[in-house]
Amino acid sequence: MNSQLYSKLIFELSRPGRKGHSLPKYTSGQAFRVSARYAREEAPSLPETDEPTVVRHYTNSSTNNFGVDTGFYPLGSCTMKYNPKVNEAAPADAGLGPLHPAQPASTVQGALEIYHRLQRALSEIGGMSEFSLNPYAGAHGELTGLMVIRSYHKSRGEGAMRRKVIVPDSAHGTNPASAAIAGYDVVECKSLADGTVDVEDLRSKLGSDVAAVMMTNPNTVGMFEKNIPAIADAVHSCGALMYYDGANLNALLGVARPGDMGFDVMHINLHKTFSTPHGGGGPGAGPVGVREGLEKYLPLPRVVREADGSYSVVDSDNESLREVLELDPLGRVSSWLGNFAVYAKALAYILSMGKDIEQVGPLACLNANYVMNSLSDVYALPIPGPCKHEFVFDGLKDKSTGCTTMNVAKRLLDMGFHAPTIYFPLLFHESLMIEPTETESRETLDAFIAAMREIAREAAEAPETLKTAPHNTPVRHPDENEAALHPALTYAALTSGRS
Ligand SMILES: *Cc1c(COP(=O)(O)O)cnc(C)c1O
Repeated sequence: MNSQLYSKLIFELSRPGRKGHSLPKYTSGQAFRVSARYAREEAPSLPETDEPTVVRHYTNSSTNNFGVDTGFYPLGSCTMKYNPKVNEAAPADAGLGPLHPAQPASTVQGALEIYHRLQRALSEIGGMSEFSLNPYAGAHGELTGLMVIRSYHKSRGEGAMRRKVIVPDSAHGTNPASAAIAGYDVVECKSLADGTVDVEDLRSKLGSDVAAVMMTNPNTVGMFEKNIPAIADAVHSCGALMYYDGANLNALLGVARPGDMGFDVMHINLHKTFSTPHGGGGPGAGPVGVREGLEKYLPLPRVVREADGSYSVVDSDNESLREVLELDPLGRVSSWLGNFAVYAKALAYILSMGKDIEQVGPLACLNANYVMNSLSDVYALPIPGPCKHEFVFDGLKDKSTGCTTMNVAKRLLDMGFHAPTIYFPLLFHESLMIEPTETESRETLDAFIAAMREIAREAAEAPETLKTAPHNTPVRHPDENEAALHPALTYAALTSGRS
């Protein structure tokens, strides 16, 4: 296949003097001059190719990638769901594209209305009083939320004594990391055999030195935390606050609200639940919501609606408005208002779903339980469910074949499916965490189930096929030990013989 030629590195395809472009001649008056101090002495070693070669190279490379637009992507904890293309049209709209964030508010009233309506919609969905959309991701929202919590304790003269944040052992790694970065000591709390938080263990760790308890609901093993009201009571009576990690909000959307459960501060991953394609570090947003009484600590800038119906931006240079609103903000956590295009997509999603948004959670749960029950005779199911939007297998049921979760994941690639999340959560040795999401059809789920069953059969009958997978992907089975011990991270390292 030609594609093999073009899938070499673009540097390998380079031939001195080949050109794929022609630039207009410039006259000296138009030339852009770099001061000699900054000018480079030698020409950069850029690849030189003809146009067909460069086009074929990048076109072929683009098809080596796996995305939710090319196949089923059941990555647990990350909610890789199909995002309607119509929501992409919103930020691409001619009116939004050319706007500059420094424009005076009077010239960008439409954009500010989008921002404000999303703040209100998320507050309604989360059962919170107010949202700041600014943080760039879930983890950034966690850090911001913990800083809000610290401001609250400080205002009560308890900033110094509340040093601890309690995090369940099933939590996503960002929870303890955010707490540590916010300057707190992280205290781990145990889970019960059914995957939910051990309330007695949690109670034993509460005290006047605790600032907050961070929880995810449904939690990262896909189980609904039924004891939240009792936990919230205990946490509040010791003066601490409840933080809700909203990464799994898609399981509750329109059905239950974290604010009603007793959470004080939360974040939402717009790129998981509200229609932003992500992966590869692509743009996200982790808005932070707070219950009544905590609004004034939220970061700036924020958008407010004035009595006359117009929108203003409250920022640190806007003293009078700050005073009127009695704000005591954290300051800034993002440049300008944050990732605006993500907000436009989220609002387009919420408005286009309308009341149907109530279907998201139940359908996500139905799909997850369907896949779980269709495979639980061949994969080990440590927590029997019923689950919410995702669940965890502890590898293949038959452990005698020597085939691991890693083998299953790689073999799935051969069959045209992205692998589920593997080796997370850390509660089990062979975790295989599957989240189908609500947007997948019965046919897709059945094809995935068939592939997973085929892999379980192969593990028993042809384990070598599994252990050497993948067999038909652009990159085959690398030597994982070699890759970990001697990673070739640059082109130079690759060409110097290590591959
Ligand atoms: C994804 C995720 C996070 C982190 O969110 P990012 O947007 O990736 O920073 C936190 N908690 C849980 C449970 C998650 O699934």
